[in-house]
Amino acid sequence: MALGKAEAFLVTHLPNVFYLCGFTGDAGALLVEPDRATLLTDSRFTTQAKEELKGTGVRPKIVKGPLASAAAEELARRRLRGRVAFEGARMTVVDAARLRKASPQGRLRWQPVTGWVERLRRVKDADEIERIRAAARLACDVIVEVLPLIKPGVRESDLAAEIEFRMRRRGASGAAFETIVASGPRGALPHARPSAKVLQANELVVIDMGAILRHYCSDITRTVFLGHASGKVRRWYRAVAEAQAAACEALRAGAPVEAPDVAARRVLRGYGLARAFVHSTGHGLGIEVHEEPRLGRGQLQPLDRSSVVTIEPGVYLEGIGGIRIEDDLLVLPGGAEMLTDAPREFLEL
Ligand code: ZN
Ligand code: ZN
Repeated sequence: MALGKAEAFLVTHLPNVFYLCGFTGDAGALLVEPDRATLLTDSRFTTQAKEELKGTGVRPKIVKGPLASAAAEELARRRLRGRVAFEGARMTVVDAARLRKASPQGRLRWQPVTGWVERLRRVKDADEIERIRAAARLACDVIVEVLPLIKPGVRESDLAAEIEFRMRRRGASGAAFETIVASGPRGALPHARPSAKVLQANELVVIDMGAILRHYCSDITRTVFLGHASGKVRRWYRAVAEAQAAACEALRAGAPVEAPDVAARRVLRGYGLARAFVHSTGHGLGIEVHEEPRLGRGQLQPLDRSSVVTIEPGVYLEGIGGIRIEDDLLVLPGGAEMLTDAPREFLEL
């Protein structure tokens, strides 16, 4: 990878380490130099590092003590001089101090950089797309499977547990994030935690869930109504569904990143719901559930071909509830391909 004016680059954010060399252990730092790369890890990961790095050209090195100190000592041993980049947004103040303390006086200049690996991760290769596609399919299968369980009398936290259990049973290594089940007025909190609240008749229920499968995430939201919805609730749902369709329509490689957000807001404004939409329209998806790009206003750079993003407009009405519809899409030159196919129409259960 391009190191700019740096002599070396220390990668400490584990999803970035995994992206660059395939190491999945939970303690590791990757030292990238123009002519070599070294993975620093500890003795718990000796065998795993050897196996996972086979054929990558990256050399595993087992170290003792803090990885930041070990990285600086490694460079000092090689008598390297000059600028060394590190992930400024991904390092604690204590570790940054360790880098400097373990570096010989005046020889290394540690320079915080941001987004170097995240930029590369924005564009997915065929294997990554396949993994996200499979994770998306898994989440859709589970959401369809649990529809009969969404009924009055069920606790939000029990439903969330059921969803996570079923994702694991279908092969997921875990939930991509804490599953959201938010019923009635709690749905007006976009990131509500599942509570002990019991689902009741005549309530909206927002379910936001995702699976991790072979290290890649999916992220899907569906909103259902328990009972027969009023005309007002149906109109809100229609507004969100139309906003979501318009945003998906606006998604294509080369279009400005903000285009889907602009399209979704235009629809909601027409329904008088502009102020009820309190977050951005979506986000990149991959090794992490929130990646670049953020599909928000003012993002004028072009959308990358082969990026994978969510489209998730919603409306949040204090004291009443929330409606959100979220799907995962692959960005292509002429448009976008939907990776999540669970039913999107208004379900009254
Ligand atoms: Zn979500
Ligand atoms: Zn999302």
